[in-house]
Amino acid sequence: MAVEGFNPFQMAQDQFDAIAAKLGLDQATCDLLRNPDRELHFNIPVRMDDGTYKVFRGFRCQHNDARGPNKGGIRFHPNETIDTVRALSLWMTWKTAVVDIPLGGGKGGVICDPRQLSMREQELICRGWVRQVVRLVGPTQDVPAPDVMTNGQHMIWMLDEYEKLTGTKAPGFITGKPLGSGGSLARTEATGYGVIYCLREALKAHNIDITKTTAAIQGFGNVAQYALDLYTQLGGTAVCVACWDNTDKVAYTFYKASGCKFAELVSIVDKFGTIDKAKAKSMGYEILDGDAWIEQEVDILIPAALENQVNASNVAKIKPSVRFIVEGANGPTTPEADEVFKKNNVFNVPDFLANAGGVTCSYFEQVQCNMNYFWTKEEVLEKLDQKMTSAFKAVYDLAKEKNIYMRDAAYMISIDRVAKACKMRGWV
Ligand code: NAD
Repeated sequence: MAVEGFNPFQMAQDQFDAIAAKLGLDQATCDLLRNPDRELHFNIPVRMDDGTYKVFRGFRCQHNDARGPNKGGIRFHPNETIDTVRALSLWMTWKTAVVDIPLGGGKGGVICDPRQLSMREQELICRGWVRQVVRLVGPTQDVPAPDVMTNGQHMIWMLDEYEKLTGTKAPGFITGKPLGSGGSLARTEATGYGVIYCLREALKAHNIDITKTTAAIQGFGNVAQYALDLYTQLGGTAVCVACWDNTDKVAYTFYKASGCKFAELVSIVDKFGTIDKAKAKSMGYEILDGDAWIEQEVDILIPAALENQVNASNVAKIKPSVRFIVEGANGPTTPEADEVFKKNNVFNVPDFLANAGGVTCSYFEQVQCNMNYFWTKEEVLEKLDQKMTSAFKAVYDLAKEKNIYMRDAAYMISIDRVAKACKMRGWV
């Protein structure tokens, strides 16, 4: 989405250039990986409910498929831009590579505001999007998924259109489908649990007993909720969670020294991740201001809400007790805050590793759909734990061996894997 003065694609390319230089990649490989392999820009004409016609602009970027079919969400947003879609397609390539799943990176979008559209109009946009990209997508080419303001219903309309156009049954064409319509068990838990699998391994690597740790969490949506769930199941104490209040239009921190309880808080949160203040008070939570989560005397910070939350303006408020920052959200830490963490030896688990549980479970959904056989929830979680644990270990080992920051190690592993796959194919 457009943010004045900030170009996410420029940022993704700068990040890539810095790591490419460290890896000593040759010019052709850099040229190949700095840009998407291909991108489509297209019109989606829709006859609106009032009988008029409106044309929506759609995109699909396929960054790199040397390691397998492209994979990535489709965003519906009024301020969507091609540069955001491009950047996100690069980040998807690095994310699938860091968890070592056989997929590439893609992203899609439509400039539209689903909040202003009827269900029928949204369905026509979904079907129109598929008609425009059908030749370049499919279970073995490019597999979309839900993202900002798209959901399981949109995915089913897109699947239905794809199957009509191709005359097939191909549930592996798209992921994020509802349970019973090709969705995978444990997808709801996957991202938050993945964050905690990484935290568990980080603590083990530092010989720290998780049951003696405390954490502060920002956010109480899908990722934060399941991070809290597993962290507390493993014996950790989360003293607070922060969330946005849709009525007051400010954020609050919900604090309980004895530990926030998952079951308690999910019973009083709405579907947008806003916790009911009155009910929380009656359950013994103190209501503090929205920034208070970052100022707690805890061992671990888990930003799991939004981007740019730990930045130059608030990093100094973090207490010296904080030894770990595990990034559930995408891009929560700015480069300025990263520098402070490096200096203070705070251990970072970077976003595209920590929150890769979501795409890993989407990959499992695709695999289950392609073989038309579904695993139990326990089987999915066991496979997820294995993938996340081995991804964490690979990054940790490299960071330790080269004495580098975890974010740099994660980028080095993923970019190196993709570059090698391109070389093996003789592309560069
Ligand atoms: P969500 O919409 O379910 O929840 C977001 C939460 O953040 C809500 O509780 C909201 O109240 C809170 N919030 C918003 N603004 C806030 C503020 N200023 N201060 C405090 N809290 C605030 O979103 P989600 O699916 O949990 O995603 C959270 C982050 O994780 C995003 O960055 C997303 O891109 C990333 N992510 C999500 C997944 C996934 O599978 N859901 C996968 C990978 C990455």
